[in-house]
Amino acid sequence: MKIQILTIFPEMCHEVLGGSILKRAQEKNLASLEAVDLRKWATGKHRTTDDAPYGGGPGMVMKIEPIDRALAEMRTPESRVIFLSPQGRQFSHAVASELSRQSHLILLCGHYEGVDQRVADHLIDDEISIGDYVLTSGVLPAMVVTDAVVRLLPGVLGDSRSAEQDSFATGLLDHPHYTRPEIYRDWPVPDILLSGNHAAIDRWRAEKAAEITRTRRPDIDCP
Ligand code: SAM
Repeated sequence: MKIQILTIFPEMCHEVLGGSILKRAQEKNLASLEAVDLRKWATGKHRTTDDAPYGGGPGMVMKIEPIDRALAEMRTPESRVIFLSPQGRQFSHAVASELSRQSHLILLCGHYEGVDQRVADHLIDDEISIGDYVLTSGVLPAMVVTDAVVRLLPGVLGDSRSAEQDSFATGLLDHPHYTRPEIYRDWPVPDILLSGNHAAIDRWRAEKAAEITRTRRPDIDCP
């Protein structure tokens, strides 16, 4: 899968795309991740990508022309162009899973007051929000989407069971995890996890996942 992040601040992406699981996914040739500088398609001495809003008001608005030129060059028949925006549909495990089946994502990041509305109206395939709050730019949302999608690609995680057991993948929140030491201060690891009885451990984990989900997320249907 190829993911390209189209932004005027590509350098903000490099650390995230070059580390941890995302780095490993690229080394294994399971994902190609690239931050693309929108200014490449800007014209003029200052390569301006924004302008004052029609109708007045605070802040600057990202111009349509550089975005249109960039997308015309980057897009292929397989591409899905996603605009990160607080006004988009809500990102979730289900959306990440849906996107992980695409072969090419272009994640368009807005900045400043936002992006000329004609971009959302005519140039994109999808609009996604990572939550009901406003961030300074679309870079962090693009990193969130990239990370959540790439870790679902087959072979990316060392053990495929990790993603299958994670919160939301099963429909529930995850069960608790413990590691050494067996007792820290006077807080012991639950006995069942030391029993070696794998059937009983699986049952305990399923019960805990259901209990945690019921308590913390009454909105989620749970057995
Ligand atoms: N004026 C816009 C509004 O109120 O809807 C917010 C603009 S925001 C300061 C600048 C850019 O950050 C947006 O164009 C978008 O790309 C990105 N952004 C901010 N919050 C976001 C969110 N919750 N989800 C996705 N993208 C977001």
